Amino acid sequence: MTPDPSVIRLIIHLRQAGITNTEVLSAMERTPRDYFIPPHFQVHAYEDQAVPIGLGQTISQPYIVAYMTQELKIEKIHTVLEIGTGSGYQAAVLSHLARRVYTIERHKPLLELAEQRFQELKLRNITTLAGDGTKGWPGEQSFDRMIVTAACEGEPPVSLLAQLKIGGMMVIPVGAQGQPQTLKRYKKESEDVFAVQNLLPVRFVPLLPDVPRNNSYSSGDLEELTA
Ligand code: SAH
Repeated sequence: MTPDPSVIRLIIHLRQAGITNTEVLSAMERTPRDYFIPPHFQVHAYEDQAVPIGLGQTISQPYIVAYMTQELKIEKIHTVLEIGTGSGYQAAVLSHLARRVYTIERHKPLLELAEQRFQELKLRNITTLAGDGTKGWPGEQSFDRMIVTAACEGEPPVSLLAQLKIGGMMVIPVGAQGQPQTLKRYKKESEDVFAVQNLLPVRFVPLLPDVPRNNSYSSGDLEELTA
């Protein structure tokens, strides 16, 4: 299948912007971003900008998705945990690079849309969960890589750091809303020692505790997702 010219343009742009890992570029090329964008924002699907996806959330700018993916240094054997499924786009990109992707979203309506997209695109190595990702994945799971796509204030949640394998890495935006935020990489050196690196100034929606109550969606909120 010949890729769409707008996809090719985006990949060239990402390469010029410093995304050099060919596997990451190929995963971006194979992930049709238009599937993850609400109908009335389709014209922006292949532009390098963040787009609203409803419920006050956004799908990140392609450059940031590619950059975070590249900085995770994923290997084919890895199990990756994502916090903040949102549209599902980042998880779909990861699914081409890792053995399995686990992803948690606190807004159930967003997660359900993302699940439909994974099915349509036949991405079968993604496992989803509706819930509070700051608590980590239920049970005894541990992960080679973690990516948090919402900004935490202060230190990353301890439950997440605990589920990272020794030698494993997490990329996470850190900083309060409206304040300068920094994308950081945590490498787990031993059970309680982490090497922390500042990567890039960024702007993300906040990582929030708990899940919204079932009745907290108005019909307007939900229409916005598909209209
Ligand atoms: N990765 C997404 C972008 C997500 S925007 C994409 O590719 O489209 C950040 C998402 O994090 C939002 O959908 C928000 O609801 C979710 N989020 C915020 N705090 C969370 C938490 N504690 N647990 C799970 N998801 C959370």
